[in-house]
Amino acid sequence: MSKKIVIAGAGFGGLELSSRLAEALPGQVEITLIDKNKGFVFGFSKFELMFGRATLPEVSLYYHDIVKPGVEFRQETITAIDPGNRRLTTDRNSYEADVLVVALGAEYDIEGTPGFAAGGHEFYSVPGAIALNDVLQEFKSGSLVIGIIGQPFKCPPAPCEAAILLDEFFTERGIRGDIEISVVSQWDVPIPPSPEGSEFILKSLKQRVIPFVTGTVITALDPEKKLALTKDGGSIPYDLFLGIPIHRVPAVVKESGLSEDGWIPVDDRNLSTKFPGVYAVGDVTSAPVPKAGVFAESAAQAVAEHLIAEISGSGEPDPFSGRGTCYVEFGGGLVGRMNADFFPGTRPTAPFSEPSLALARDKADFVRNRRARWLGT
Ligand SMILES: Cc1cc2nc3c(=O)[nH]c(=O)nc-3n(C[C@H](O)[C@H](O)[C@H](O)COP(=O)(O)OP(=O)(O)OC[C@H]3O[C@@H](n4cnc5c(N)ncnc54)[C@H](O)[C@@H]3O)c2cc1C
Repeated sequence: MSKKIVIAGAGFGGLELSSRLAEALPGQVEITLIDKNKGFVFGFSKFELMFGRATLPEVSLYYHDIVKPGVEFRQETITAIDPGNRRLTTDRNSYEADVLVVALGAEYDIEGTPGFAAGGHEFYSVPGAIALNDVLQEFKSGSLVIGIIGQPFKCPPAPCEAAILLDEFFTERGIRGDIEISVVSQWDVPIPPSPEGSEFILKSLKQRVIPFVTGTVITALDPEKKLALTKDGGSIPYDLFLGIPIHRVPAVVKESGLSEDGWIPVDDRNLSTKFPGVYAVGDVTSAPVPKAGVFAESAAQAVAEHLIAEISGSGEPDPFSGRGTCYVEFGGGLVGRMNADFFPGTRPTAPFSEPSLALARDKADFVRNRRARWLGT
């Protein structure tokens, strides 16, 4: 009898897991993949949207294009998770699973920062990135502050990538001299596990006259006075504030009892939760890796190997590698790379390769490869 596998969330983790299981266990698994959206958008495609370089349809991987035997996609919103009974309720159905995988990612708590909704903008969500394009087209002079409000946050290099791409955007429009850009962070460097990558990013920011303000915690915005208020009682004036919002698990995860101290705790080796037959991958977990798609992907690979060994009754699965290759945009079509290794229990490393056109081609291949593998096209 085939196993019923229900995957909640068709993002980086959910798509990787469904495609691996479908390929490895044909006829042995019935996979139901559920997402509230009709398509997936890579995190880095938000830069395309924010700068108006592509439209939403152009950067979307539509789920109706999935042609993987054994995978059925349902566009539904999950309203309740009962991990003890491996049961999911959506706005249209309910599902019982032999194996339930929660891959619902992180959502943003905009209201958690007083004044942010009224006084700031963000590019971390698809609607936020699209709305920001109009704002950037209108912005002609003044101080633009990129403020990292909470942590953990997705893709640690992204705020600095945004700053570098904003420098390029305003330079192309001939108004860079009228705009000050800064990045405000709680950390001392852009990417603490990668000293080389951090050094290179700091050098690139300096060349572009973009201060990286360290050790600063933004707690609120004063939209009237256009000030970002900091924990130490200080304030940072801005004309345009782009915030990296506080991240949290989706409400449906919090209500399920799966999360503890904010995120879902998992076994570092195979991403199982404390509930038998229930796993969690990606940003929704407290696995000891940064919140990034490539780690959601390697976590999904570990769950897949574990389930393949269990269901087929053969093989010894490798534990979660904690590895991921992150690409970093430097403008001018150049892309750098970090080969991050967060193998649980060891000191993280992330050696950096300097930006090049060859790495830009690698990144384009990375996207093409995922599109083909996940959709089966
Ligand atoms: C600007 C930016 C740049 C980035 N750049 C990179 C990068 O270069 N490399 C990289 O690796 N990562 C990058 N990321 C991070 C990356 O996008 C995320 O870490 C990654 O998508 C996490 O994968 P996931 O599977 O955990 O969650 P997600 O991909 O977020 O998927 C979660 C899915 O769950 C669905 N969902 C949530 N709640 C419900 C519900 N109640 N019902 C039904 N469906 C629901 C969502 O619609 C979503 O499709 C970037 C992020 C941003 C914002």
